[in-house]
Amino acid sequence: MATIHGIPISIHVSFLLLMLFLGLRTLSSSGPRVALIEQGLVLAVFVCVALHELGHAAAALRHGVPMSGITLYPFGGVARMARRPPQGMVEVVIASAGPAVNLAIAGALFVLSAGEVITPGGAFGLRLLSLLFWANLILAGFNLLPAFPLDGGRILRGLLTIRMGWARATVWAASVGQVAAVLLILVGLMHDVWLVLAGLLVLPAANAELRYALAVRQFANRRVGEVARIELVRLEPAATISEAAELSVATPVADFLIMDGHRPVAYLSAPRLWARVRSDEPGTQPVTAVAEPLATPIPGDTPVEDAIGYFHRGGPETAPVIDDQGNTIGIVAVGDLIRAAQLARHATSRK
Ligand SMILES: [Zn+2]
Repeated sequence: MATIHGIPISIHVSFLLLMLFLGLRTLSSSGPRVALIEQGLVLAVFVCVALHELGHAAAALRHGVPMSGITLYPFGGVARMARRPPQGMVEVVIASAGPAVNLAIAGALFVLSAGEVITPGGAFGLRLLSLLFWANLILAGFNLLPAFPLDGGRILRGLLTIRMGWARATVWAASVGQVAAVLLILVGLMHDVWLVLAGLLVLPAANAELRYALAVRQFANRRVGEVARIELVRLEPAATISEAAELSVATPVADFLIMDGHRPVAYLSAPRLWARVRSDEPGTQPVTAVAEPLATPIPGDTPVEDAIGYFHRGGPETAPVIDDQGNTIGIVAVGDLIRAAQLARHATSRK
């Protein structure tokens, strides 16, 4: 519908259907004036929901997390991030930003009306502001419930991530979310049908997140040493491209690790070597002229999930893997780690 700072914002069709339904119903029962006021009020709440999502988006962009889009539904919105926040604290800030917007709106209405919005009554305009005031408090309060995937659940996960890492934190936050959703349904059965509806919406999302987190944890429990490529031919930096090509033909192992004594200095893959051999350049140059630089060595017992943090955007994409004595046991490419993460995700999304 619109684009703000490159983030596409869309309105779910059910919102327009709800507006139409409410409008026609109130028009026939109470006349055009009440219907118009009701439409205005629904729109005002809708704007508050939109501002809530924009609060998330602004916090995410500030912390360098790209957004893939915002969708607005009748009773809330979803701000989707293109990737997950890098640190637990960043997720806490992004998740808090939405409810903070609603609390700020409620606070502003409270101050502007000199506190009169708390008790609905008196002038007609004030009654409308009072409805808006309570709507914002409910929006903030409901979203702060520690029920994943609501904002409160994300804040909980962010705080847990600082202590126990992302995968375990997600398992915990999603489990708490399941319990909260069931409690919501039980309390709702006794008091309010809306709470039952909210619980029924939250429960499957918490279930899906738990399944995903369990799969990711399984993957995250693997160590870099287990996924490292260890079949490498080791070369000295002075070896020439022709020598590497001859070795490549003579051995079943194709990739090269260039070692200066015990120190790994560069990596040369077979496709890269053969692209060079096929070019017209002479093969007398040292292999270091075509090899790729290496990232910081990663200890083999590092969890695969944490290993992604050793690579920096635009930096080397391959890192040596070392044992606890500092000996090089192989290499790992950032692409291997990302593929493994995507496989874990794919395995869960098909369920
Ligand atoms: Zn939110």
